[in-house]
Amino acid sequence: MSLKDYQKEVDEWTKQFDPQYWPALEQLARLTEETGEVAREINHLHGTKKKKSDEAPRKLDDELIDVIFTVICLANSHGINLDEAWERVMREKHYGRDANRYERKDLQP
Ligand SMILES: [Mg+2]
Repeated sequence: MSLKDYQKEVDEWTKQFDPQYWPALEQLARLTEETGEVAREINHLHGTKKKKSDEAPRKLDDELIDVIFTVICLANSHGINLDEAWERVMREKHYGRDANRYERKDLQP
């Protein structure tokens, strides 16, 4: 599936709600919450702070999808085509501006 397919799936699912998409600032708050949940999972996986014994198990992959879902809601409510944006950003920033920014692996045999 492409990002456009995910955007369509989210748009179809959210059509049952009124409003279909929350106001932008509420979506931003949700994105911040979900990003914090990713941080919490990363901290539990790699940090010294472990989960409480009575804490419900969550998974990093679930939390990452929550972030992506929220980003898609923001994109949809702003009329952004994420496939087009992805192609443009990859071309301009990653393959262009940052092409020589990071140290490369030595791929010589
Ligand atoms: Mg979450």
